[in-house]
Amino acid sequence: MTSRARRRATPREVATRVLAWYAEHARPLPWRDGATPYEVLVSEVMLQQTQVATVLRYFRRFLDRFPDVRSLAEASDDELLGLWAGLGYYRRALNLRAAAQAIVRHFNGTIPRDLAALRALPGLGDYTARAVLLFAFDLPEVPIDANLERVLARLLGEDRPIKSREARARLEGFVRELFRFGPPQTLVHALMDHGALICTARSPRCDACSLRPLCAAAREGRVHELPVKNGRTQVQHEHEWRTVLLDKAGRTLIWRRQQHRRWGGLWEFLRVDARDNGPDSGGAEDAVVAALQEKGLCARFLLAGKPIRYQVTRFRITAVPWLGKWISGHPIGLPDDEHTEAAWVEVATINRWPMSTPQRRIANWLGRVLPTIEATSP
Ligand code: SF4
Repeated sequence: MTSRARRRATPREVATRVLAWYAEHARPLPWRDGATPYEVLVSEVMLQQTQVATVLRYFRRFLDRFPDVRSLAEASDDELLGLWAGLGYYRRALNLRAAAQAIVRHFNGTIPRDLAALRALPGLGDYTARAVLLFAFDLPEVPIDANLERVLARLLGEDRPIKSREARARLEGFVRELFRFGPPQTLVHALMDHGALICTARSPRCDACSLRPLCAAAREGRVHELPVKNGRTQVQHEHEWRTVLLDKAGRTLIWRRQQHRRWGGLWEFLRVDARDNGPDSGGAEDAVVAALQEKGLCARFLLAGKPIRYQVTRFRITAVPWLGKWISGHPIGLPDDEHTEAAWVEVATINRWPMSTPQRRIANWLGRVLPTIEATSP
C-alpha cells in the first residue's frame, strides 16, 4: 500500500516531468507562441475533428487571405469555402465567418475574453471557447481534448466512461491541480503533445514515456483498455449514384447545397439514392433517369465510373458516378430542401467551384474521361 501510494501520479511530479519533456519535444505549431487571439480562434475551429497535419496545410493560406476578424467577416461564400475545401466539415467555415461578424457587431472586432460570450458565438462549443481563453489570453481554463482524455485516463487509471460527468470532473480537477505547478497554457500544450507523440491511441510508447513511473494504466497492464469509451457508434453503409450530365457544349450540371445541409454552400453532382438498387445492379439506369425526370431533365446513359468510397461521420458511403448525355429540360423546383440553385459549368473550369473532396474526385474523373467521350461521340 505504501509503495503504491508513493507511485501515485501527484500533480507536482506530473507537471515537472511533462514540462521537462515538453521543453525538448514541443511541436512547433504556428498557432502557439506569439499567435494573436484571432489566429488561435481560427486554428481551434480548424482543429475541430481534424488532424494537426491537415490543418497545417490550410492555416497560413487562410490567414494570408483573411488576416483579421474584419476581413473574415466580409468573406464571400465562394472564397471562404474555396479556401476551406478539403478540410471537411464545411459548416465550420460558415460558422467561423458568422462568429467573426458577431465579434465585429458586438465587440468592435475584438475577441471577447469571456466564456459565456465566446460560447454564444456560432460554432464555438465548450471546448473551443475554453481553448481560446487559455491559448489566446492565458486564462486558466481547462479544455480537455482527446489527447488529454487519453493521457490523463491512463495516468490516473480512470476507468469510468471518459465522457461521463464523474470522469470529466476528475480529469478537470487534476488539470487545475497541475496549474499550481506550472504555466497553464504550457502544461496543456505539453499534455496535448504528449498524447499526440508518446501516449498515442494505438501504439503508446510507454518505454519512452517520462510519466511511466507514475502511470496507473502501465502499472496495472490496462493501457489498451483506457480510456473507456461510452460505446461505439454503429457504422452505416450507404450507396448512391452521382449524376454527371454533359450538354452539347461540353458543360456539366452542378448543384449548390442548402446552407443548413452537410457541406452547405458547396457544389455537387446530383445524388440519387441507391438503397434499393445498389450501384452494381441493373436498376441503376432506370432509377437515375427517373430521378432526373423528376428534376425536369431528360438524359441518356453513357457510362459509369468506378465507385468512390468515403466516410462522413458514421456513414461509409460508396458513390458511383453516372455519366449521361443531356437531351432536354432544365432543373425545376429550385430552391428545394436540398439545393439552392443549379448551374451548367465548363468542365475545364470546374476546379474553380467550391466542392467537397469526394465531389472533387468525381470532377477529376470527369476531366479524365471527357476526351474519350468526345472522341467517340457522333
Ligand atoms: S506510460 Fe504509457 S500509458 Fe502511461 S502515460 Fe506513458 S505512454 Fe501513456
